[in-house]
Amino acid sequence: MINADLHCHSTVSDGLLAPAAVAQRARDGGVTLWALTDHDEVAGQADARAAAEALGMRYVGGVEISVTWAERTVHIVGLNIDPACPELVEGLARTRNGRYARAEEMGRRLAALGLPGVFDGAMKYVSNPDLISRSHFARYLVDVGAAKSISEVFDRYLSEGKPGYTPHCWAKLSDAMSWIHAAGGTAVVAHPGRYQYSQLEFGAFFDEFLQLGGDAIEVVTGSHTPDQYREYADVARRYGFRASRGSDFHAPDDPHTGLGSLPQLPNDLVPVWRAWL
Ligand code: AMP
Ligand code: MN
Ligand code: MN
Ligand code: MN
Repeated sequence: MINADLHCHSTVSDGLLAPAAVAQRARDGGVTLWALTDHDEVAGQADARAAAEALGMRYVGGVEISVTWAERTVHIVGLNIDPACPELVEGLARTRNGRYARAEEMGRRLAALGLPGVFDGAMKYVSNPDLISRSHFARYLVDVGAAKSISEVFDRYLSEGKPGYTPHCWAKLSDAMSWIHAAGGTAVVAHPGRYQYSQLEFGAFFDEFLQLGGDAIEVVTGSHTPDQYREYADVARRYGFRASRGSDFHAPDDPHTGLGSLPQLPNDLVPVWRAWL
């Protein structure tokens, strides 16, 4: 039985543990096939692979790319990628560019809401200065008592439409997918249940993803409820997508399920890893 966890984060993006420590946690959770998928960055891939192989896990290269589609943010996971592919590396660098200015603007918006000094505060939580994320802002705001939990920070300030939210233009879907494909990888829609699209928009999105050579969607993820496992299993069946499974682990104390401990994919779906094993 393969225990795959193909979505998680390290200090290279907005996770709290270094790649080798995430590998150890994956191994402790019983994971046998693993991918580290930091946001818009592959700098952790060599460490992740080395640690995984030393622990006896199979490793596939991974990344989670931020995309703007119909004016909203969508995440596309690239799996089994070659992290040295120049098209991918250059595309990711362009996607990261702008995070710093966005974070400064987020700081100004929060200051106007009576929360001064949040940019400087959040920076203390950032390990990769190229990758300042809303998560770092959220961790700081919880630690100074501005909210009780990360999810409360997002609900009150940082989610789309909330007063601290700062719109940003990420990569185009077609570009993100061509970088993944150039790197020999498989493109996977991350946590489709999280996007606030209408039925019509979802249909158009999946059609376009399919047309661009989209391979798979996440069905079982730490970001889905059990009802959403069923809903997106049906989407995978309808479109003929393969299915992926991943915790979206960020930190030992976050409410997401631990690495490797989510339910298995429904039996009739084709797992995204079948082609690699
Ligand atoms: P960014 O790439 O800076 O827009 O930050 C996105 C990250 O924020 C995601 O990858 C999650 O780690 C985190 N995030 C987004 N929404 C929520 C939420 N509602 N609760 C907790 N974390 C969230
Ligand atoms: Mn994240
Ligand atoms: Mn995501
Ligand atoms: Mn993620």
